[in-house]
Amino acid sequence: MSDKEQIKKEKHQQRQQKLKESIDAKVAKATKEQGVFMVITGNGKGKSTAGFGTVLRNVGHGQKAAVVQFIKGQWPCGERNVLEKLGVKFCVMGTGFTWNTQDRELDTQAAQAAWQDAKAMLADESLDLVLLDELTYMVSYHYIDVEEVVAAIKNRPPMQHVIITGRACHRALLDIADTISEVKPTRHAFDNGVKARIGFDY
Ligand code: ATP
Ligand code: MG
Repeated sequence: MSDKEQIKKEKHQQRQQKLKESIDAKVAKATKEQGVFMVITGNGKGKSTAGFGTVLRNVGHGQKAAVVQFIKGQWPCGERNVLEKLGVKFCVMGTGFTWNTQDRELDTQAAQAAWQDAKAMLADESLDLVLLDELTYMVSYHYIDVEEVVAAIKNRPPMQHVIITGRACHRALLDIADTISEVKPTRHAFDNGVKARIGFDY
């Protein structure tokens, strides 16, 4: 090895050593064990996918998860087809809300019914993870009272994880979240005329 290469190698080792020390110090500080409340928001693609990915991760460790879908899309849900077989309970907002409905009374009733299911999950000690997919819209439309959601999340079993997905998350929910990820739409195929595809978009 030339002198130049040797110096490069040593420099790399020193940098990695420093990095390791800094990460080790941070890891040593993270000692709390608690359920995490996470919000996945923003206008980019990947919010529900990330929520369902975490459900899969949870179930893969033999833990118990449940899902409420606050928007029933016009398409079947690929994740549901798999996760239900693995024992994950799904509640899907009934008659209800899609982007096409215009009946506020019906939508409110459907949102409230789904919220009752969600509240029961948030009080269920046997659940390790609860995914409330697209809940943010129900709060934006005032179909569900944000203070009720905040209270249910605060009073849940202390080890239970909760994930809320959806755009434009209410400030009151962000304020109590432990983890917030905002997905940024750098580019989306739809804007170039590409249709939503089964097995990729739903
Ligand atoms: P995904 O379910 O793919 O993780 P998401 O949950 O982040 O997406 P939503 O706002 O719930 O996004 O929208 C659901 C549908 O809209 C999906 O089919 C997704 O591909 C599409 N979508 C998401 N973001 C965008 C975007 N920026 N432009 C156009 N379509 C989008
Ligand atoms: Mg989504």
